[in-house]
Amino acid sequence: GQNPIAPAKLARVEQAIAREAVTEPMPEHALDLAGYLAQGGYQLLEACLNGTRSAESIISELEHAGLRGLGGAGFPVGRKWRAVASEPAPRLMAVNVDEGEPGTFKDRYYLERDPHRFIEGMLVAAYAVGIDTIYLYVRDEYPACRRLLSVALGETQARYPTLAPIIVRRGAGAYICGEESAMIESIEGKRGLPRLRPPFVAQVGLFGRPTLVHNLESLYWIPAVMELGAAWFLSHGRHGRQGLRSYSVSGRVKRPGVYLAPAGITLTELIHEYCGGMAPGHTLYGYFPGGASGGMLSAAQADVPLDFDTLQAYGCFIGSAAIIVFSEADRARDLAQNAIEFFADESCGQCTPCRVGCGQMAKMMNQPVWDATPIDNLSQVMRDASICGLGQAAPNPARCVMTYFPHEVGLADVAASKEEQA
Ligand code: SF4
Repeated sequence: GQNPIAPAKLARVEQAIAREAVTEPMPEHALDLAGYLAQGGYQLLEACLNGTRSAESIISELEHAGLRGLGGAGFPVGRKWRAVASEPAPRLMAVNVDEGEPGTFKDRYYLERDPHRFIEGMLVAAYAVGIDTIYLYVRDEYPACRRLLSVALGETQARYPTLAPIIVRRGAGAYICGEESAMIESIEGKRGLPRLRPPFVAQVGLFGRPTLVHNLESLYWIPAVMELGAAWFLSHGRHGRQGLRSYSVSGRVKRPGVYLAPAGITLTELIHEYCGGMAPGHTLYGYFPGGASGGMLSAAQADVPLDFDTLQAYGCFIGSAAIIVFSEADRARDLAQNAIEFFADESCGQCTPCRVGCGQMAKMMNQPVWDATPIDNLSQVMRDASICGLGQAAPNPARCVMTYFPHEVGLADVAASKEEQA
């Protein structure tokens, strides 16, 4: 019989071909090689190449700065470099330029403006860790960025021809390929299925070799941290947190955008100091602090410091700092429903808790009044037994609706009647 997957697959291929043919203009505001050099660009890389900057000094500066991976997981960058550098050669590097977390657009923002800063950070990482070949995994939905990147890479490779080869791979629109081991599978030419760990990719990654995996923004900050020093990076921060974060702010604010702000800033401060306040006619009702997967909070938690670790106490995480603001014109349950349907669609289907769980959860969340016990039980199973972060995080929006917006799903009445009976 007819293969039911074929038409969808064909449509994807046709879309990819159409994207390749797109004549979208190159971003005009990108700093070219001459502009980057005029700002002192590539001096750090040249210091590495002429032996005046050692790999050890770079890694230890990063450890002092406490820079953490900015793709979502937040693993300390210096520690990761040291771990991969201690593995046997040949070592490879895989860079994620496939930002797919709903609400995240910071990597595109930086790539469109200053591609050489990212490339220099990437090459410095390759030098410090002793990388043989670099693979870039670039989001297919960013055709202009891909062309801009290829021009910038050509300029860099012409200027520094002896550096590690850089191979660009196009993604194909799968959210799961943002997960590091799924991205590695995809770069290898296979279906993007997350791997079981251990072994970790730092030991057994791309083509079975030790692999340094980074997101674009983590590498983008390397030149500034090295030039200005760990003390400069640590001098920023609010409410006891240190460092800087790039927040992608979208939703019901007056000026959505990417804002470089102190780590630990609160939503109230971010909206009022950076976004010009709420959009006219809208009152804050809640927000996603870390894209679709990082959970949801209500306006009552607008003064919680936004940073790694802090949000765990609220059952949320900041991830890639995609802040999606919603107002009293919205219902949290609709947004949560949208998120779980997204996860159901993007699940790779490899493990049962996620493949079956996302669909079951979507059905339970579609009821006018939620039944808390089975939703809690299913959430627990998905968190405990899913192979990767997608299935583990997929119940977050539902759990947060039950915790912070119970009145929307009939659970506030249940809690009140239990209290009355007691
Ligand atoms: Fe695939 Fe979901 Fe299992 Fe991750 S949790 S491996 S996305 S089925």
